[in-house]
Amino acid sequence: MSAGIKGVTSVAKATIRDVDLRDKRCFCRVDYNVPMKGQEITDDTRIRASLPTVKYLMEQGAKIVLASHLGRPKGKVVDSLRLDPVAQRLSQLLSAEVKKLDDCIGPEVEQAVAELQPGQVALLENVRFYPEEEKNDREFARQLAALGDIFVNDAFGTAHRAHASTAGVAEFIPGYAGFLMEKEINALGKLLSSPDRPFVAIIGGAKVSDKLGVLESLLDQVDTLIIGGGMANTFLLAQGYGMGKSLIEPDRAEDALRIMEKAVESGKKLLLPSDLVVAPAPEPGVPVKVVEADAVPEDMMALDIGPETRKLFSEEIAGAKTVFWNGPMGVFEVEPFRGGTLEIAAAIAHVDGFTVVGGGDSLAAVELSGYADKISHLSTGGGASLEFVEGKKLPGIECLVDLG
Ligand code: ADP
Ligand code: MG
Repeated sequence: MSAGIKGVTSVAKATIRDVDLRDKRCFCRVDYNVPMKGQEITDDTRIRASLPTVKYLMEQGAKIVLASHLGRPKGKVVDSLRLDPVAQRLSQLLSAEVKKLDDCIGPEVEQAVAELQPGQVALLENVRFYPEEEKNDREFARQLAALGDIFVNDAFGTAHRAHASTAGVAEFIPGYAGFLMEKEINALGKLLSSPDRPFVAIIGGAKVSDKLGVLESLLDQVDTLIIGGGMANTFLLAQGYGMGKSLIEPDRAEDALRIMEKAVESGKKLLLPSDLVVAPAPEPGVPVKVVEADAVPEDMMALDIGPETRKLFSEEIAGAKTVFWNGPMGVFEVEPFRGGTLEIAAAIAHVDGFTVVGGGDSLAAVELSGYADKISHLSTGGGASLEFVEGKKLPGIECLVDLG
C-alpha cells in the first residue's frame, strides 16, 4: 500500500498504487486542455504530464478510457474543440494506438469500451460538449461512470471543480489518484506542512481581487510575503501614493490595508516595490523610466518593478529555504517590462532549498527565463494550485477513496 496523498484536512487518499488494475476498465480523467492554434497543439506539456499514469495503467493491463475537456465549448459541440489532435499526439508519445471516440456517453461509446483489450487506450470526446459536465449532473456522471470499474483522477488542473467527470463519477465507482495528482499534492503539501524556514512567498500578477484569499492565508504560513506586479499598485495606493494611470483596484485598497496591518501584528515581513518602471502604455518601443514608488507621474503606468526593488526582493529570496511564487512582477509579455520577472525567476532558481512556481503566466515566465529546470516543482494547476495553497478542500481529491 502507498502512503497515499493528503487533501487539506482529510485523511490520506488512495492512489493507483493501491488497487489491482488488471483487466479493470479505468475511467481516467486527465487534463488535456492544451493551447491550440487552429488544429495544432502549440504546447503538449499537459499531455506529456499524463504519460506516467497512462503508461502505468497500460503496463498493469487495465483498459483505459481517458476523458478531458478542451477550451470553453459552453455545453455545445464545437468542431474546432474536438479531441482528435490530442489523440494523435498522445498516440505518438505512447507509440501505441489511441482509439478516439466521437462522444463521451451512449451505446456506441459503451460498445467501443467493451471491446478494449487489457493495455488498450481510448479517448472520449470533449466532456464539456455536454452542459451536464460543469453542472455536475448526477445522471451524466452515472453514464460516464458506467464506462469504468474504477475512476482514476489525474486532472490536477480541474481538481478544484466539482464537475461530473472530476468528482461526480466517484459516487458510482471508487476513485484513485493518478501520479500527476500525487506529485502535485505532495509538492504543494510540503509548503503547508512544516516547510523549512525561512519560507518566502512572492505574489504578483494583475489583480488583488484574483488572489485575496491566497494572500491572506499565505501570510499565516510564511515568514516573508513579497508583493509585486500589478497587484502591488493597489497596496501602494492604499499607502496614499498616487499611481497615475496604473492598473489599480480602489475598492480593494481596504483589503490591502488589512493585509498590511495583519503583517505588522503577526510580525511577518511584507515587502512592496520601492521603485517602479513606468511608461505611457504597456507597448513595445514606448519611452520607459524608473521612478520611486511614491512618484508615479500622473500620465504614466507602473509596468514592472524597478532595479532597487529587484535587488531587495532577490536578497530576501536568496536567504529562503522554501519559496512559493505565483504571478509575474510586471507585464512580462512585453519586452521592456519583463526584466523584474526574469530577475526574480533567476533569484528563485539559485535558492538552496525547496522552490515551487505555479500559475499559467508564471510558468510561461519561468520558461522564458531559461531556469525552468532549476525549480523544484512547477505546478501545472493554476487555480487548483492556488486553492490548495489557500487551504481549501479540492472536490477532485476529497471524492477519492480513503486509505486505511
Ligand atoms: P498567473 O497566470 O501566473 O497566475 P496572473 O494571471 O495572475 O498570473 O497574472 C499575470 C498577468 O499580470 C500578466 O498578463 C501580466 O501582464 C499582468 N501584470 C503583471 N504586472 C502588471 C502591471 N504592473 N500592470 C498590469 N498588468 C500586470
Ligand atoms: Mg494567468
